[in-house]
Amino acid sequence: MLQRFPYVVNDTIIEAYTSSGTVYSPSLQHQIEIFKETPIIATILRKKFDFELVKFAKDAGAVFQDGSSVSAVHLSDDIAQVTIDQGATISSEIIVGADGVTSPIAKHFELRRARTSMGICILQEFEVDEQIMDQYFKKSRHCYIHSRFKTVAGYGWVFPKKRHLNIGFGIIQVDKPQQQKLNILHCYQEYLTLLKEKDLIPKNLKEEPVKGGALLTHPLEKTYLNRLLLVGDAAGFVNPLSGEGIYYAMASGRIAAQVITEALEKEQPTEEVLAQYQIRWQKDFGRDIDLILRVVKRGSMEYAEKVFSIACKDPVLTDLMMGVITGQISVQQYKWKIIRRFFYSSLRNRLHLLK
Ligand SMILES: Cc1cc2nc3c(=O)[nH]c(=O)nc-3n(C[C@H](O)[C@H](O)[C@H](O)COP(=O)(O)OP(=O)(O)OC[C@H]3O[C@@H](n4cnc5c(N)ncnc54)[C@H](O)[C@@H]3O)c2cc1C
Repeated sequence: MLQRFPYVVNDTIIEAYTSSGTVYSPSLQHQIEIFKETPIIATILRKKFDFELVKFAKDAGAVFQDGSSVSAVHLSDDIAQVTIDQGATISSEIIVGADGVTSPIAKHFELRRARTSMGICILQEFEVDEQIMDQYFKKSRHCYIHSRFKTVAGYGWVFPKKRHLNIGFGIIQVDKPQQQKLNILHCYQEYLTLLKEKDLIPKNLKEEPVKGGALLTHPLEKTYLNRLLLVGDAAGFVNPLSGEGIYYAMASGRIAAQVITEALEKEQPTEEVLAQYQIRWQKDFGRDIDLILRVVKRGSMEYAEKVFSIACKDPVLTDLMMGVITGQISVQQYKWKIIRRFFYSSLRNRLHLLK
């Protein structure tokens, strides 16, 4: 995201950079350690980040109506309209549904099925003295990821920011029957206990509210209609491995803007012309999401454990995997390199064991 949208790279928006981390295998037996000269993750405070994005949009001419809510949407061949707070109506050529994971717009136009599979996560963000942050997480703001903690298809995370510590737990595939029975809050509490026992986080964190959220686990089949486009979470653009979606929200927003500009120039905000949007996001990041989704769906606990046992001994494979997880490399582009390296490394491991 930082490469594609360099205007967000400033000290007001970015809180801290992380250049090291540990990723644990499900059994906690294997660990992948990463220590880099350059950052692998940039952290933000979400309120501040969103506020700055709004400022960018306003500076570019957008009218921001804070505190208002869209209560109805209407599309016809001639016009697109939204009703604000059951009162005023705004007319436009095209509507962009950027209304997040619950997207009333996607539901209203039946672009989303009633029982769509969702991921869920909960988190707490603790304010911590900078000195203590330095002591626990060093200047490199060392992060921790516990893959498939308690066998859950998801992960636990510790993302240290400048003076904030973000700890959370997410389940990515809730549609699996065994995941539905899980008590996510209980898993999170067990996760916190583990982190404290292992002395990975300070023990006396000030109590903060537990927040939760949901995400769609795959893109919608159709993300456009006559005079309408869906972007970001509304369209289900989330990385199925990490649950991240800010990059896709921004990338899809930009693609939508380009397609809308072309449609308006042609004076054809029609379904046929707006279909270009879906073609472009699929080519841009959709194939990557598809591929990751297929891997995530197939990956069993045993398989995840095996991948860790091999990757933790091979820095080249680790780099490739981290590139995928942090979104720095395209899976589509690097898939054969990753597969070749995995088999090479796995063979080397076996030969080493035979010696
Ligand atoms: C717990 C959690 C942690 C996450 N962590 C990360 C992370 O570390 N990195 C990352 O990249 N992604 C993360 N994500 C995902 C990320 O938050 C989303 O992918 C991203 O916010 C999508 O942006 P968006 O603009 O599409 O939707 P949103 O940010 O959800 O914005 C949608 C907006 O639409 C507004 N809206 C909804 N309905 C109406 C209405 N009727 N009228 C008017 N306005 C309306 C909402 O108020 C909201 O402001 C996380 C998600 C969760 C739940």
